[in-house]
Amino acid sequence: MGSVLIEQLRKDFSGLTVLQDINLDIKEGEFFALLGPSGCGKTTTMRCIAGFETPTSGTIKIGDKNVANLAPNERNCGMVFQSYALFPHMNVFDNVAYSLNIKELKKSNFFKKAGVYTRMLNSKIVKYPQHIERKVMDILEYVELTEHAKKLTSELSGGQQQRVALARALVMEPEVLLMDEPLSNLDLKLRHTMRNTIRRIQQDLKITTIFVTHDQEEAMSMADRIAVMKDGKILQVGTPTDLYSNPNTPFIADFVGTSN
Ligand code: ADP
Repeated sequence: MGSVLIEQLRKDFSGLTVLQDINLDIKEGEFFALLGPSGCGKTTTMRCIAGFETPTSGTIKIGDKNVANLAPNERNCGMVFQSYALFPHMNVFDNVAYSLNIKELKKSNFFKKAGVYTRMLNSKIVKYPQHIERKVMDILEYVELTEHAKKLTSELSGGQQQRVALARALVMEPEVLLMDEPLSNLDLKLRHTMRNTIRRIQQDLKITTIFVTHDQEEAMSMADRIAVMKDGKILQVGTPTDLYSNPNTPFIADFVGTSN
């Protein structure tokens, strides 16, 4: 449950290798950062884990399941994007309830197609089962958005939108939470607050989290362990202290700020 094992992952795009020799052993409950400059392959690594990209070769396991042939929605990964990717025409509650309700409807075999539900949602005739109402309100309370439940997401601040995105991922009770530069659209002060919020939630839920960032200070202050990437490869994996005290290349010394 919840661990992520990557072996010999490689990814080519039209003959160009953008990831090679990626090996990672991320433990259950760990807060793990992928850190490196823009273009080094962090997002592609994450998209391979989530199932949005197919690796050219290599294996990816979540728990003891090889996920290579599973669709993204079968991998039990929750994802939070830099751009939030919320539904702007839906309110906060509906954004968080959406995937959960579709999962329930599919289980109940009542609706064969999610499209029926989406049309109902657009025409505002959806009534949620009580247990979904409760679960969504619980999670909204957890991310301190209760009073905003009926607002459109477009009426919210960046930090609030990011918390909706987090709630939407968490409500599905994923084994692994994947976050791609979740704080980079926020101003500095909010970024610091959100660091604390994310870390508090991650520690409360003990959810395995993979956090992509190009910001070394963010990674160093938040992560249990960090993989530093450059040009599609991993240069070093270690705790913030390991990287700071024993950088294995001048690049890492420079990147984590120990070479001055
Ligand atoms: P990072 O997240 O570290 O900024 P990415 O994983 O987004 O890096 O990108 C790594 C490299 O792969 C970049 O050179 C990027 O241009 C390339 N790349 C990413 N996605 C695609 C794609 N769909 N097609 C072609 N090249 C891509």
